[in-house]
Amino acid sequence: MRVRHLALGAGLAWAAYTWGAHLLTPACVWRGRRADRRIALTFDDGPDPAWTPRVLDLLAAGRVRGSFFLVGARAARAPELVRRMAAEGHEVASHGWSHRSLWLCGPRRTAEEVGRAHELLTALTGYEPRHFRPPWGMVNAALFAALRRHGERCVFWSIQPEGRRPEPAEAQARRVLARAHPGAIVDLHDAEGTPGAPARLLAALPAMLDGLRGAGYDLVTVAELLA
Ligand SMILES: [Zn+2]
Repeated sequence: MRVRHLALGAGLAWAAYTWGAHLLTPACVWRGRRADRRIALTFDDGPDPAWTPRVLDLLAAGRVRGSFFLVGARAARAPELVRRMAAEGHEVASHGWSHRSLWLCGPRRTAEEVGRAHELLTALTGYEPRHFRPPWGMVNAALFAALRRHGERCVFWSIQPEGRRPEPAEAQARRVLARAHPGAIVDLHDAEGTPGAPARLLAALPAMLDGLRGAGYDLVTVAELLA
């Protein structure tokens, strides 16, 4: 009986730490001001040595800058790509160290996920990352203090053309253009999380860029969108 009560207590504590922390997400950023006809494209899960350079080439050709939410461990393996992003005017931001869901991280591991990525990205770019996107969009109660310590803000998105289920490139482009709104933050993936995601992004990106600019939107970084 006592064991069952303990298990129940631990379960409730875990639920408060994970599910409960989602009550704090209104304090996170979901979009920018409605007054400005600006949209931020954001790229998660990289850098990927094969795909990210092709995404950067496409953005350079279109003279578009965006925000890259990098996985620290991947950034450590591709430092030249992180430097290239910074040199080309993109915003380098944090997606944690290992992409482990924060629902599976205690307070100490959460602080490490935030702190280790923060330090590495700062060393590679010469500036401190100001924005953090939680892997899988999942937060816990320890995250917000860790972010405050490093001066990072939690950023979600207002348009996500592909989640965990693969969506064809044309459908993704259509969805972004249909849902585009002033201040939108678009969540894209330049590395594998959902299988094949970067290839679909590359196929969808030209139509997204043309369509959004054709609709009169300026494409900016998250830092610019929220400035
Ligand atoms: Zn991710």
